[in-house]
Amino acid sequence: MSLSRRQKWRIEKVQSERIARANKAADKTEKNFTDEGSPQIGRVITRYGQRQLVESLSGELFQCTGRQNIGFSVAGDEVVFQPAGGIEGVVTAILPRENELSQKNKLIATNIDQLWLVVATEPHYQFELIDRYLILAENSNLSINIIVNKIELLDELDQLSKDFSLYQDINYQVHFVSIKKELNLDLLKKQLADKTNIFLGESGVGKSSLINTLIPDLELRVEEISSKTKLGKHTTTNTTIYHIPSGGDLIDSPGIREFQLDNFNAKEIVNGFREFKALVGKCRFRNCQHINEPDCAIKVALDSGDIHPSRYENYLNLLPE
Ligand code: GDP
Ligand code: ZN
Repeated sequence: MSLSRRQKWRIEKVQSERIARANKAADKTEKNFTDEGSPQIGRVITRYGQRQLVESLSGELFQCTGRQNIGFSVAGDEVVFQPAGGIEGVVTAILPRENELSQKNKLIATNIDQLWLVVATEPHYQFELIDRYLILAENSNLSINIIVNKIELLDELDQLSKDFSLYQDINYQVHFVSIKKELNLDLLKKQLADKTNIFLGESGVGKSSLINTLIPDLELRVEEISSKTKLGKHTTTNTTIYHIPSGGDLIDSPGIREFQLDNFNAKEIVNGFREFKALVGKCRFRNCQHINEPDCAIKVALDSGDIHPSRYENYLNLLPE
């Protein structure tokens, strides 16, 4: 696949920014080290106790401890590390994060390019649940799109495409796939390439099946990493980045596959409906909750059909009492 000019430019820009950041961070820390090679940029692949496995830009793995006072790194973090002989290293800085995925105030992963909400025809998708995942993403600066799995179970797809057109109308991508029958997986694989991806969704929708299709030797790789970290089976529960053979990375763990949404406050809920955003400042009352207030821009948009009734209904249902 040839890259467009713009993509090339972006990659070069990102790389030069990374190097600049690295040099700056390295300058600060260099004098504290005996010379075991220059500081490098890497990415935390997994973390286990006080240690972390860091992949360098050239793809080598280093077992690193972390400098004190630099904070707690997790899978996805870009870091500066100082090789300390062999495969040992010391992480000296965590680079600024693009975004964070947390649950119950516990940081799970960072620098995620793409969250994928996986739903299915069986167990049947629920709009309210979809909207709650979208709220999570919108509030965490995370890009999110939707995968609808098990489409081969339906005789016809009219209702399905009608149901999800409301999400496409507000610019969420929707992929209709069957993992079992391998329908429409090629386009999805293309979308995963060059990105760091995470799959979220309820149990039974097909996340594990999808991951096994994308990375057929996942178990082997988990074992490889376990042997590198010398922690055996323990490591299989830790959140880890895997490279997808067809392109892109996947951040995965049993915890991510069982991810449960936290509750949201009213502000997060309003902020979580992207089609409300341009309107909220236009209500007559600054503290408008968009329920029964006069001259409410959201209600006007609802009446004119610019906001979908299902989305508004879920908004009301989700607001705290
Ligand atoms: P997870 O809980 O989200 O990880 O879901 P799993 O990957 O464990 O899948 C749950 C069930 O759905 C398993 O029995 C899978 O075989 C089945 N499944 C996965 N993909 C498809 C599909 O495309 N069509 C059908 N009919 N079943 C599927
Ligand atoms: Zn309003």
